[in-house]
Amino acid sequence: MIKSILFLALLTVTSAAAQPARRAPQPRTPQEMVAAAEKLPGVHDDSARALLERALPLLRAPADRPVRARALAEHCWRQAGYVPEPQLVALAEAGLAEVVPAGQGYAVGMLRLCRGYGRENAGQVDSAAADYEFGIATGRRLNEPEVLAMALLLRGDLNYYRGDFASALQDMRAAYDLSVRLGDAEGQRHLLGSIANLYADRRVGDYDRALEYYRQVLASNVAENSQAGISTAYFNIGRTYETKGDVAAALPYYQRSLEIERRRGDPGEVAYVQSAMGGALTKLGRADEGLRWLNQALGYHTRAGDEASAAQALLPRAIALRALHRPREALADLERSAAHFQSTGNTRFLEKVRDEQAQNLAALGEWRGAYDARAAQVELQKRLADQFKEEQTSRLRVQFDSEKKEAENRALVRENQLRGQALAFAGRVRRLQTVVIALAVAIMAALAFLTMRHIAGERRMREMAMTDELTRLPNRRHLLAVAGEALEDARSRHEPFSLLAVDVDHFKRINDAFGHDVGDSVLRRIARACRAALLDGDTIGRTGGEEFIAVLPRADAARAMDTAERLRGAVERLDWSDLDPALHVTVSIGVAQRLADDSFAALSRRADDSLYRAKESGRNRVHAAV
Ligand code: GH3
Ligand code: MG
Ligand code: MG
Repeated sequence: MIKSILFLALLTVTSAAAQPARRAPQPRTPQEMVAAAEKLPGVHDDSARALLERALPLLRAPADRPVRARALAEHCWRQAGYVPEPQLVALAEAGLAEVVPAGQGYAVGMLRLCRGYGRENAGQVDSAAADYEFGIATGRRLNEPEVLAMALLLRGDLNYYRGDFASALQDMRAAYDLSVRLGDAEGQRHLLGSIANLYADRRVGDYDRALEYYRQVLASNVAENSQAGISTAYFNIGRTYETKGDVAAALPYYQRSLEIERRRGDPGEVAYVQSAMGGALTKLGRADEGLRWLNQALGYHTRAGDEASAAQALLPRAIALRALHRPREALADLERSAAHFQSTGNTRFLEKVRDEQAQNLAALGEWRGAYDARAAQVELQKRLADQFKEEQTSRLRVQFDSEKKEAENRALVRENQLRGQALAFAGRVRRLQTVVIALAVAIMAALAFLTMRHIAGERRMREMAMTDELTRLPNRRHLLAVAGEALEDARSRHEPFSLLAVDVDHFKRINDAFGHDVGDSVLRRIARACRAALLDGDTIGRTGGEEFIAVLPRADAARAMDTAERLRGAVERLDWSDLDPALHVTVSIGVAQRLADDSFAALSRRADDSLYRAKESGRNRVHAAV
């Protein structure tokens, strides 16, 4: 049933997903098998697929057609995210060939959505959108709320990736209402998280609403007693308060998140939250306390060889040190973080670093250096200005579109109710529009202020919907959407473009020898190290268990090889001694550069082939497609 499917669609393999389902009485008839498979929870579970694969050959009689149609749809969705996209599309099409002539509406809708999902992940965004539209129309026409909810959720996420926030929001809200009606708790939690993330997105910036939704996510995780979910919700609430400028309100939420992460015992997560706490305390004028947290976080990041997280913590530590009148130490921190932000091309952070350098040098009376740092900062500010303008325009548009869409929606509902009272209706719409325009003007004024403040603000929001829960990297779906779009861009601009396929070497042995929890920690650290080794504009996501893909816009083969080598080296140099002295981890990487009219599927196949070569020639190496 969609109850489980809804969630499955957006899930990548995580440790939670690996928990076996509790054994129910063995189903005997194929009908019982299908019913049992439909009831299994919405996490990756081979037993659901196995049940369906046993049931399907037995469901051949004409009387079995309705059950068989449901089984075909369920089977397709149970494979989503776990088989290569062309295979998923083929599976959906085989199912459709059977259920369309039989007129099985529910299954037709679900299979079209399954095909769309496969297409979206293969980078065929437009044809995916057509399948989603079909699903929405079918769900409405046949009054199948499960089909409709699924379709709205898929279209909502797709619109989010495309940057059409107002439409995304509308779909997510409608899907949420349906999931409430269907009693689908997993779907509700997912959608609340998506909506919260959208509001907290810098380009939307409606932090009060984001907070409202994160609170609902929190309540739902409390009800589930999901500690990881509770901690993430606390953290997100804290970060949103901080971004909003209410640092005092943020602090207790960070604290709660930290308590949970301590109990959960993941030092990387603990350090991550400590770093946020340290920055917040410093902003509150409690630099001495802040410094203690930042020292702890930095200690961990440095030991773990995680230069990116270290750089992120070095900047707030430098700010704390300056507040404590220790400019020389602050300057040392700034130098180290500048080196990192420069190598990754992070303009936003670099600008802040130059500002801090100027202030510390001035405090020491080193006027020449202070002047140079200030000049560098001004240069960076110019570069940032364009970015801010773009964000501001986008945010304004989102606000305006959302209000307009809501007004239109309300108006539509009324239109149905008050058919015939056209005049009253028109008057109402006019009044609504006046309100919208007044709102837009007010928002514009508020925005000018907020945007200014953003210049100083740094933000790392943990996003659930687009993010792999284990590694916090973009999940498979998000990564592939990003990749598809970036490839399109590269094609239209005739620019180079490369992909890296990264796979952990002998990961199964690591799990077997050191346990699944250590395996999880290994994945998390590799993810951090790889992200840190990438340049600004490059993206890495987790596409499967121990597999990652990095998207490198504008990278030709030579630059892609450099990047791959940097990633490989970064992983090789990681220190695992706190997990187990005997642990040693490496990755193999396949590199492929875009050819004239590569489809995403063809390009990623070449990257996979190269990966295979890298494995064959001994692992812990990089191989490029020729
Ligand atoms: P190769 O060098 O050829 O890539 O060997 P390998 O052992 O890494 O490859 P294989 O694909 O055989 O094994 C991957 C293993 O990854 C199997 C699976 O149990 C494990 N795995 C997948 N997802 C997770 C996860 O989320 N956590 C942990 N701990 N293990 C996972
Ligand atoms: Mg593998
Ligand atoms: Mg592997």
